[in-house]
Amino acid sequence: MSKPRVLFAASEVYPFAKSGGLADVAHSLPRALNTDCDLHVIMPLYQFVDRERFAIVALGEHFDVAIGGVVYPVELYGCVYEGLDYRFIYSPLLCDRDFLYGPPERGYDDNALRFAIFNHAILALLKKHTYDISHLNDWQCGLVPLLIKDDQTIRTKTLFTIHNLAYQGAFNSSILNEIGIDAKHFTMDAIEFYGEVSFMKAGIAYADAVTTVSPTYAKEILTAEFGCGLEGFLEHHKNKLTGIINGIDAEHFSPSEDKALSVPYVDLRGKNSNKNAYLKEVGLSGVKKPLFIFVGRFTWQKGMELLTEVLGKMAPKACNIAILGEGEEKYHDALKRVADKESNIHLAFGYDESLSHRMYAAADFLLMPSLFEPCGLNQMIAMQYGELPVVHHVGGLADTVCDYKEFNTKSAKGYGIPFNEPSPTAFLNAIDQALALYTNKAYYNKIVKHNMLCDFSWQESANSYRKLYDNITQESSHG
Ligand code: ADP
Repeated sequence: MSKPRVLFAASEVYPFAKSGGLADVAHSLPRALNTDCDLHVIMPLYQFVDRERFAIVALGEHFDVAIGGVVYPVELYGCVYEGLDYRFIYSPLLCDRDFLYGPPERGYDDNALRFAIFNHAILALLKKHTYDISHLNDWQCGLVPLLIKDDQTIRTKTLFTIHNLAYQGAFNSSILNEIGIDAKHFTMDAIEFYGEVSFMKAGIAYADAVTTVSPTYAKEILTAEFGCGLEGFLEHHKNKLTGIINGIDAEHFSPSEDKALSVPYVDLRGKNSNKNAYLKEVGLSGVKKPLFIFVGRFTWQKGMELLTEVLGKMAPKACNIAILGEGEEKYHDALKRVADKESNIHLAFGYDESLSHRMYAAADFLLMPSLFEPCGLNQMIAMQYGELPVVHHVGGLADTVCDYKEFNTKSAKGYGIPFNEPSPTAFLNAIDQALALYTNKAYYNKIVKHNMLCDFSWQESANSYRKLYDNITQESSHG
């Protein structure tokens, strides 16, 4: 059987641009699929993408797009990086700024038009080049399935992946003409969402298949608690919805090959050297005390209310705590208020890939009290680097972290400390369990060693995507 030609589109792809897990997935899933598919990854060529470092060159193709009576110049760029073929859409309005999506005061308001240009440019590319599958990720690519249906000349099949339903790309309906969408689609069955235009709904309504990033989240989003207002709409489309768990890039997140570490490691002795080095680096003392870390966006979703509330009660316990992230100011302030009073808390504000790796290498426990979590990568990275995640039992965290109380050396799954209720009491109770477990060092080490040997790679999930690609292309050949 010949390899399917796949166009894999996302608004961020590591290492070119990254704000969160989507970029990691768009980096590593295509690699896992590459041997079995003839694959191009496509993203916007933001001005901050390092063209020289990645040898990104103009491919001499122009797809200027006319949207709402205005012509937007679009140029195609490309590169081959680590064996994978990348395509980049360059259009000034989409790309010429030094941030991906925000902040609002600096142009957030034109994201509908920016990503409409990206979507229309993908459509223009699909008209010129044949792809069997267009794999479209999150709302920033949501209009593509709709545009393809309207066009009727393009024979690609579409798979739309929801990475986080909380970000829907919903905009004022007055932009409908400006983004080149026919008003006939502005209905509840299609792209209208409480009077606004929803890019996410367009993807769900018109794609041939829809996936989300864990089996549990696929079920959760059919409920009012997690459906973000789209639960009824998703229920209507649930026959084409499946959950496929994300993996992590086994090379990028490998303690034995990690270039960010001064001492790459395969065992607990090596890990301990990293813990020593990190504690020294950030001025924390007490290598025998367990080190808890938090890495992530400071948003409501990540359980920041819980973390900030629990932090003050946790600090007097025998542990060190290190936090890396950025996000809403109120959380920066709340964290700072506690950390200023406590000598065993280290805060680092900002986005720092290399520091995050050193933290994963040093830590004994990861804190992940997310209120909801479509998949989550941190917990898998943490287990791979030899720690136990303390997680709210929800979404992908429920699918990837088993309870240490049921530890079984024969299981292929990773273990941590899940808690059921997203309450400070339950979170603190899980932290106390972590502290107690750490005093039984032999047992703790056994679990850590097991976690480090677990396979969190993409292989199995890539096979599921590959099967799905086959299913939707076969559906088409059977009419
Ligand atoms: P998200 O909801 O943000 O996509 P995920 O758990 O899916 O969360 O992925 C988060 C990814 O981003 C992980 O690789 C994590 O280590 C990384 N990350 C998040 N915040 C930071 C930060 N401030 N510095 C470095 N890496 C970060």
